[in-house]
Amino acid sequence: MLISTPSDREGYIWQYTVKTAQVVFVYCIPCPECGEYHRASDHYIDFAEERDPEKIERDDIAHYVFPCCGFVGTDRARKRALNDGIWCALEDVARDEDGQISLEHKKEDWQMPGRELFTYLKAEKPAKIAFHSPAIVSKLVPISEIAAAFLRGLSDPAKMHYFDNQIRAVAHVPYRQNRKEDIIRALKDDRPAGLVPGNNRVAALIAGVDTQKDSFKVVIRAFGWGLMQPSWKIMEGEVETLADCIENAVRDRVSLNGTVLYGANLIGRYLRGGKFAGAEIKNCGFRECDLRDCNFRGATLTSCNLRGSWLWGADFTGAALNWTVLHRAHLTGAVFERCQILSGSYEW
Ligand SMILES: [Zn+2]
Repeated sequence: MLISTPSDREGYIWQYTVKTAQVVFVYCIPCPECGEYHRASDHYIDFAEERDPEKIERDDIAHYVFPCCGFVGTDRARKRALNDGIWCALEDVARDEDGQISLEHKKEDWQMPGRELFTYLKAEKPAKIAFHSPAIVSKLVPISEIAAAFLRGLSDPAKMHYFDNQIRAVAHVPYRQNRKEDIIRALKDDRPAGLVPGNNRVAALIAGVDTQKDSFKVVIRAFGWGLMQPSWKIMEGEVETLADCIENAVRDRVSLNGTVLYGANLIGRYLRGGKFAGAEIKNCGFRECDLRDCNFRGATLTSCNLRGSWLWGADFTGAALNWTVLHRAHLTGAVFERCQILSGSYEW
């Protein structure tokens, strides 16, 4: 018998669990209110609006919401339910092309996923079995600690690693992937720095600025169309004043620290992050924009094209550039500012 925390996706124990084992058992617990069993999961931990992990742990404010009937239990209720829990086979789980199963499940799929352990073993006589044992099925780990570990993970990749491995007992897939140098080079195209891809491939340019003690770090990326926008880095650098960041008076030209970007519109004077974009930029700087109609919640929306009215904003959170594109649209004479068109996050 092997017992281990899963490391990464290639780790032996993880591969055994999701690929080699004929069946994986998960822990199901009964509801103190209605008696129904469900698959114990951190999906059902509720910590309301609180986002401070220290406060959640100190005041022990997390609850366990039994998904069967919505009964809101304390951690003691969960621990009592754990006493009466049973291991259930994960049955009818789809395998991907590599033959791997997923230990993830949707919050609404709370029902017992298969037969009870001994019933299953007697009937199927599997030779290789695995048990999935995350912290939520342990009485030694309070749910407030689980909630706090999750929140800490949101702001620190190393802590998310801990949360995945030690708390959720799943392989950790780092958000930031380490790529080999030649693979990185293969991603590079041969555009000179500062040149925006042509042929109408670019829907918006996003600039992000991170305020340092004595300077501003700037990155400008282009994003394409569609739900999964392709993205190109246009330029990055460090400037001393905000005024150096951008020059918006000249159409089709922006500059970064004296270098001019052609074929691009960065609309607005403020490189201050997404939350400022809507408030700071009131006027479309480009009067010759084309108009086009589209359907918007049942109304015909006449909107400017890219050149007219795309607003942008971006902000940094540690390793990522969170960006948003706002569209200034005209609807029967009235002007709608701040319609969010695209948003996302990009690793920098
Ligand atoms: Zn219930």
